[in-house]
Amino acid sequence: MRIAVPKETHPGENRVPVIPETVKKLALLGAEVVIEPGMGAGSGFSDEQYIEAGASVEPDRNKLFAEAQVLLRLRKPTLDEVALIPSGCIHISYLDPFNEHELVRALQMQGVTAISMEMIPRTTRSQKMDALSSQANLAGYVTVLLAANHLPSILPMMMTPAGTLKPAKVFILGAGVAGLQAIATAKRLGAKVTAFDTRPVVAEQVQSLGATFLEIDLGDTGETAGGYAKELTPEQIDRQRQAQKEVIAQSDVVITTAQVFGRKPPVLVTRDMVEGMQPGSVIVDMAAETGGNVEGSVPGETVEVNGVKIIGQANLPNNVCRDASKMYSSNLFNLVEDVWDKESKQFVVDFEHDILPGCIITHGGEVTNETIKNILEGAN
Ligand code: NAD
Repeated sequence: MRIAVPKETHPGENRVPVIPETVKKLALLGAEVVIEPGMGAGSGFSDEQYIEAGASVEPDRNKLFAEAQVLLRLRKPTLDEVALIPSGCIHISYLDPFNEHELVRALQMQGVTAISMEMIPRTTRSQKMDALSSQANLAGYVTVLLAANHLPSILPMMMTPAGTLKPAKVFILGAGVAGLQAIATAKRLGAKVTAFDTRPVVAEQVQSLGATFLEIDLGDTGETAGGYAKELTPEQIDRQRQAQKEVIAQSDVVITTAQVFGRKPPVLVTRDMVEGMQPGSVIVDMAAETGGNVEGSVPGETVEVNGVKIIGQANLPNNVCRDASKMYSSNLFNLVEDVWDKESKQFVVDFEHDILPGCIITHGGEVTNETIKNILEGAN
């Protein structure tokens, strides 16, 4: 089976979908791997390394697409690219299917089997394929490094003959995958960390990392069967804002990672809270790209409000692109290997599989994912 890996074209994207080590593993499964020249360059992998691992190189991008049976990607395809994909081809990438209605329709019409990495179910067995988690983990790490770089003071306590420096106070909102990694990173750097999440189960995890969990009584919050936060009522959001105001005012760094799956992230840090912080303090809004947890954050930019820096940088895993590529590539491989038939050496699109059907969005000219199908029909 011919697996093609084109070069990522999104401006500034240095992560790559497949690293040479993965090519080796795919070749061992019996796959024929073809890459576009320069595919790994963003993360420092040369064509020679891929060739050594067993790949061949196809310089004609159109031909690479036209002859592919499986396409392994990172970012979603453009509409022009969809037109190049042969019917029946399996396309695996991020897709953002909740928002990309036109793209989903185009993939459907083209007869592509489109698999969305965001829709891998968050079960224990599928953890090894879970790109949302692998990338969020690294993003959480990066948020702390960004904050530390912009802060005019240091994170750890330091006792020197010239005096004692107090540890920085870091407040982390949202203690999911990214938030927990941010807590762990800030703790490693010696900061005094407080965190809050609406899912009460998280309190113990926060405390086990040596951080303080901010207790806020919001009434019934709960979580979905998939382990995600439920959307708060406007009254609950208001109560949360009031309760965390004081902690934010006293923090040197605030890192926000709060998301509600399939919805716009909640605005948790309002303008008056930003103005209540000391000049020189830093806020990193990890949700800036999807709407923002912080009032006034700008996607892709660092802005200053009353001397407080608000960092809205997008694509945080890109800062550690080599490790991000390694992890994403592993996620892709683990998915492929799980559905691979060793006899026929084929990727089997099996709707009885326990993981695959949930993340297939289109197949055989249909939108097969019920959730996305309902959204598309509702939008018409
Ligand atoms: P996410 O990115 O959707 O959200 C990030 C965090 O924001 C979550 O912890 C959420 O509870 C929190 N949040 C939402 N509204 C908030 C608010 N108003 N204030 C403060 N925090 C708020 O979530 P995620 O990090 O991708 O994953 C969430 C959880 O899903 C994980 O912690 C875990 O329990 C579960 N999960 C399970 C698996 C698995 O078993 N394979 C894999 C990944 C995640």
